[in-house]
Amino acid sequence: MDFITNLKKITSGVLHKNEDIYVYAHDTSQNPKKLILPLAVVFPKDTTEVSSIAKLCNKYNISIVPRAQGTNHCGGTRPVENCIIMHFSKMNKIIEIDSENLIAIVEPNVVIGDLNKELDKLNLFFPPDPSNLAVSTIGGAIALNAGGPRTFKYGNTKDYIINLEIVLANGEIIETSKNIAKNVTGYNLTSLFISSEGTLGIITKATLKLIPKPQTRLLTLAYFDNLITATKCVNSIINSGFRPSTLDLIDKFTIQTIEKFNPCNLKTDSEAMLLIELDGFEQCVKHELTILKEILEKSGANSIIQAKNDIENENIWRARRSAFSALSQLKPNVITEDIVVPKSKIVDFVLKTQELAKKYSIITAIMGHAGDGNIHPNFALNLENTIEKNNFEKLKDELFNYAISIGATLSGEHGIGTQKQKYLPMVLNKNAHNLMKKIKILLDPKDILNTGKSI
Ligand SMILES: Cc1cc2nc3c(=O)[nH]c(=O)nc-3n(C[C@H](O)[C@H](O)[C@H](O)COP(=O)(O)OP(=O)(O)OC[C@H]3O[C@@H](n4cnc5c(N)ncnc54)[C@H](O)[C@@H]3O)c2cc1C
Repeated sequence: MDFITNLKKITSGVLHKNEDIYVYAHDTSQNPKKLILPLAVVFPKDTTEVSSIAKLCNKYNISIVPRAQGTNHCGGTRPVENCIIMHFSKMNKIIEIDSENLIAIVEPNVVIGDLNKELDKLNLFFPPDPSNLAVSTIGGAIALNAGGPRTFKYGNTKDYIINLEIVLANGEIIETSKNIAKNVTGYNLTSLFISSEGTLGIITKATLKLIPKPQTRLLTLAYFDNLITATKCVNSIINSGFRPSTLDLIDKFTIQTIEKFNPCNLKTDSEAMLLIELDGFEQCVKHELTILKEILEKSGANSIIQAKNDIENENIWRARRSAFSALSQLKPNVITEDIVVPKSKIVDFVLKTQELAKKYSIITAIMGHAGDGNIHPNFALNLENTIEKNNFEKLKDELFNYAISIGATLSGEHGIGTQKQKYLPMVLNKNAHNLMKKIKILLDPKDILNTGKSI
């Protein structure tokens, strides 16, 4: 094919045989309507190659699906008809860490955990933590505006992006801002590309804001006899005047599943657990801990356990991060939802999820970043089983309708991809939605960038 021959002239290592590209038909999202293979998978080594590939795809009307590690939950990296996958594995360098100006300049495929290991040596910190730190990349996190357990105190990815180098659909290269901390010169183009899910431009370089690493971290586990008490306690903590770095809620079934497959001495007989991390200067953290313990006791926690040291702290976090893989031992598929509800409605939403899971006989395990009202119901099922699959669709429709009726939104950090598009008109302001579509047409008139995803 003419297109593939030209592609090979631009970049080396183009894959196009079925046995080589089959794996790129999948990502972490689990319910493809149809298996589609890309025409090719390319691994550009720099911005110039990305730009030349975009120009070629624009000429031939071929879609580009940007792909980092494929760990998103929304179908964002799934191939569409007549597409190539653009994989950034060769663009994974930390270009510069500037500790005086508190910035880092990185290529898109730098893994967030690896970046933080380097920053650690300089007592610096990049807070966004999409719970799979060891895998997920800066590029993927920017494209989805990923969040995670630390969002409650530190914000999500958007709060740490200063400047982006972007390749547009026609191959043009732009910089959205400057490598300086503040800049109100012109429109905020950086924000436009954050959470655009690869549909408006391809991120080829990012300048990140860094902060000093907190001196001390203290992890507390608080167990509760019922979910309502645990959730009320979240609000008491929020109203107490200090801000934990993490305020995560985990239900009994999730605790039991983690303990079954990745034991770390969690108490499996309580209905809910709060995972609360404090960080900062040691004296401040100690003071906050005293207040926290008082609140937990007053709120009716049946057990309060303190991680004794950094090793124990990391072990608990490793177990928490393993929840998704633990659940996947139960059934062939695990689907993670990502609803944000007003904090006052967390209990209603959790109870509704449990009620619907029971009604449709689907296993559910619920956890979430309760401090932000961002709840992740996880559903374990077998999508090859037509009854289970249909039941799950009904459950999802009812749950989303309910969530929207109590003021929720569709995603706090995982994005829309292909999985939640049908619900968009229910939550987006109609005029705003139309404006988004006009912006897409302006930047990508042939609709070649991550076609069919997001809006
Ligand atoms: C076990 C588990 C736990 C998770 N927990 C959380 C959590 O707590 N919080 C959270 O926010 N997320 C969570 N996630 C999902 C998380 O959002 C993604 O893993 C991460 O943000 C990006 O993953 P990635 O680097 O693999 O990107 P991919 O999945 O490869 O890509 C993500 C999106 O970015 C686009 N993209 C990738 N690179 C570029 C680029 N260079 N230019 C333009 N677009 C690009 C892709 O097209 C796609 O739309 C979790 C995932 C797993 C598997």
